[in-house]
Amino acid sequence: MSQAILPDLSDLLAHNDQHDVPVAIIQQVIARCITPLNDTETLPLKQALGRVLAQDVISPINVPSYDNSAMDGYAFIATDLANKSAKLTVVGKAYAGHPYLSEVRPGECVRIMTGAAIPRGCDTVIAQELVNDATDTHISIAPNAVTAGDNRRLAGEDLRIGSVALRKGKRLSPADIGLLASLGIAETTVTRRPRVAFFSTGDELRSIGQALDEGCVYDSNRYTLHSMLVRAQCEPIDMGVVKDDPASLEKALREACAQADVIITTGGVSAGDADYTRQMMARLGEVLFCKIAMRPGRPMAFGKIQCDGHTALLFGLPGNPVAVMATFYFLARDAIYQLMGTKPHTQTLLKVACTHAIRKKPGRTEYQRAIVSTDTSGKQHVTLTGAQGSGILSSMSEANCMVVLDHDQSDVAAGELVTVLAFDGFI
Ligand code: AMP
Ligand code: MG
Repeated sequence: MSQAILPDLSDLLAHNDQHDVPVAIIQQVIARCITPLNDTETLPLKQALGRVLAQDVISPINVPSYDNSAMDGYAFIATDLANKSAKLTVVGKAYAGHPYLSEVRPGECVRIMTGAAIPRGCDTVIAQELVNDATDTHISIAPNAVTAGDNRRLAGEDLRIGSVALRKGKRLSPADIGLLASLGIAETTVTRRPRVAFFSTGDELRSIGQALDEGCVYDSNRYTLHSMLVRAQCEPIDMGVVKDDPASLEKALREACAQADVIITTGGVSAGDADYTRQMMARLGEVLFCKIAMRPGRPMAFGKIQCDGHTALLFGLPGNPVAVMATFYFLARDAIYQLMGTKPHTQTLLKVACTHAIRKKPGRTEYQRAIVSTDTSGKQHVTLTGAQGSGILSSMSEANCMVVLDHDQSDVAAGELVTVLAFDGFI
């Protein structure tokens, strides 16, 4: 048994001794217990999607690196517009990758394509559809057809040489990967993936391929967790199903602790008879057993365990499949992000009219599975997916969002606006 592996949390937990702990408080508790991993690795760009930048990226060049045209048209000198109707001589062509190399003089213009370098001397581009009397040799430009400086993309207007292109801690998106490529950067240094060992607990659990004996269920949590961990850029370590007996649990926890940064278990954290998980967790480390004011997902263990000088974060999630997902997304994932050195996921919340009434008791946050849809007039509505039991995984699969009913919220009337968390980009 080890001492004081967790920081002092008394200020956060003192007032919540008698009550279920609000989600916002447990999120703060977890955040306080995490020290980011320092290890980094350097990866080719195409392998870096979703990973977290370990250092600022400074732009080694201007992007774009030269002034270029934003239009197919003609490049010329703005002072020529002073003439009532400018008639200009076409002296050459500039294509992307094939610049016009001579100096352009007053009264001249260059046929130019989008992305081509603005020829020396020119400062303005007019779109081809705005010129008059265009031939291969001449064009006319009506007064006010264009303003000096129009239709140029200036060197460095996207990124300036020496400026910070991407900040440390950024989770790399497709746009970021493209942006690094636009700087000519081939590889990037990211934080290493957290190793997350996970196992399911329960004598009733059967693995795929085994016979489903009377009173048994297939273990789905390990598959859901594996998928969520892969999406969160972790290195998953699947430790299988562990029986509800103290010796097996101790062995599994010790093995997990030896090889992982984080251990996630499911099941056995409520105070049921066969729930030895709590006991064993408490023996191996410093673990809080919380009743969290959230639904689904009330009982949860969180802490750190220590074996053979190695410490691992521990999330003892509930057993019910939907509760596993809710506690992972609202409590465990941001902790994993923090380990990776990046910010919590930004939840995009919408306000949408609910098609029916919802019963809700103040004093807990509820995450109800729902479908948001758009009617023919373009208005959005949200409807719950029916039965909201925390064991009903099909409600998660069917849903495209959750209705988030805040801690203090009470009943919702039909037609009332509710807060909706869209799954797109979230799960
Ligand atoms: P527990 O938290 O262990 O009491 O489990 C609560 C409920 O979730 C029980 O009905 C379990 O059978 C179910 N459950 C627990 N673990 C899993 C799992 N890995 N896959 C599917 N259902 C599970
Ligand atoms: Mg169980």
